[in-house]
Amino acid sequence: LPTIILVGRPNVGKSALFNRLIRRREALVYNTPDDHVTRDVREGIAKLSDLRFKVLDSAGLEMAATSGSILSRTAEMTGNVLARSNFAIFLIDARDGLQPLDLEVGKWLRKHASGIKTILVLNKSESLEDETGSLTAATGEAHSLGFGDPIAISAETGLGMVYLYEVLRPLLEDYMLPILNDKASHDDSSSEVEETKLPLQLAIVGRPNVGKSTLLNAILQQDRVMVGPEAGLTRDSIRTQIQFQGRTVYLVDTAGWLQRAGQEKGPGSLSVMQSRKSLMRAHVIALVLDAEEIAKAKSSMKHAEMVIARQAIEEGRGLVVIVNKMDLLRGKQNAKLYEKVMKAVPEEIQTVIPQVTGVPVVFVSALEGRGRIAVMRQVVDTYEKWCLRLPTARLNRWLRKVMSRHSWKDQAAKPKIKYFTQVKARPPTFVAFLSGKTQLLETDIRFLMKSLKEDFDMGGIPIRIMQRSVP
Ligand code: GDP
Repeated sequence: LPTIILVGRPNVGKSALFNRLIRRREALVYNTPDDHVTRDVREGIAKLSDLRFKVLDSAGLEMAATSGSILSRTAEMTGNVLARSNFAIFLIDARDGLQPLDLEVGKWLRKHASGIKTILVLNKSESLEDETGSLTAATGEAHSLGFGDPIAISAETGLGMVYLYEVLRPLLEDYMLPILNDKASHDDSSSEVEETKLPLQLAIVGRPNVGKSTLLNAILQQDRVMVGPEAGLTRDSIRTQIQFQGRTVYLVDTAGWLQRAGQEKGPGSLSVMQSRKSLMRAHVIALVLDAEEIAKAKSSMKHAEMVIARQAIEEGRGLVVIVNKMDLLRGKQNAKLYEKVMKAVPEEIQTVIPQVTGVPVVFVSALEGRGRIAVMRQVVDTYEKWCLRLPTARLNRWLRKVMSRHSWKDQAAKPKIKYFTQVKARPPTFVAFLSGKTQLLETDIRFLMKSLKEDFDMGGIPIRIMQRSVP
């Protein structure tokens, strides 16, 4: 088995991570004899979803705190353990911020573990989870250690273990092929990685009568939602869970909107969707429009529909637009209208939410069950982009390229981005670290967004770019 050693100054949470990785499994504790001190090194078999590896909890470096020097005998001892390791996980504490001792550990690792790939982990980050600002600050600081982008986790709550998995998986794969192929090792179904496969939460929204229930039925391939010209016939709470290509998709608040749809008055009413809450619970919003209405109207989207599209993006959700009832525009006499709708909708969306390019638009006939697979594919695709994580090294290679390919009128106006990193996914959130007092202008941010979208195929989802200065 590949071996991973956990290193870091005292109290950063090595043991907590160790315990989480081995679960309730036995840890083998043995003493490493040393002339001066005897320290425990715990060793266990870690299980992270389908990954198996040996994990070593090095208490050794903790001595550095008292000895004042990392190059103490205990560090040497850890060095011996290090020699048996394939990878190192270097833990730092998100709450404390970088401490001098972290720098020491980093220095020590560079010296003794130069051949070992080291993964930087920002532990206890649950405290910063909802404050992107502080997570950003912590990330930026951590970056200065020179071990790349830290992975924010909480060994205590399990937050972010999925990201750790994503980083470890390609590294461990080579060592583990025989194990991965062994079905017997897939026994632990409660594995951490279910986080990655977090069921996609989908909200199908739209004005009454655009065909939401019909579409839902088509997707479910069952007549479980009662559909009629009068919207909102159904009051049952229906179990709305779909399996699509091995993925679980939950329909958010479906019963709710069906009910409320029934109470809506007037064609423009959208109260059903103005529930920001239901938007917030969804990862992807599928906004359903009515092709026949679009054909008749001057503008493709009614005011309320624009509001929803904007809200979805502002709230950082993925958006898929569905134009339903395309069957009504079939036939020669309608050819012009058909074309008009196909062209007008994507254009209008672009003007309504200029900050997001390439929102997917799917043209369907829910009544005939046409396009439902395409809808689900776009939904899943959007979700995957929304969850995307780009490694810092790759981002910075990319940054150098786009910066040189773009020409600034005034060379002095060229932003001085030291490095660029993704601090968060769902939706992808990036931070540009700028030297000194320089700042990104609105146009710079737009340029970066556009380039990111084009180069990494991230169309249709909101992207956030923040900036921070480094000395
Ligand atoms: P909801 O209020 O958005 O849930 O709309 P419904 O699903 O209840 O549909 C409203 C009406 O539009 C019903 O009479 C449906 O049969 C009809 N409808 C829904 N989808 C289509 C479609 O693709 N083509 C046509 N021609 N009619 C549709």
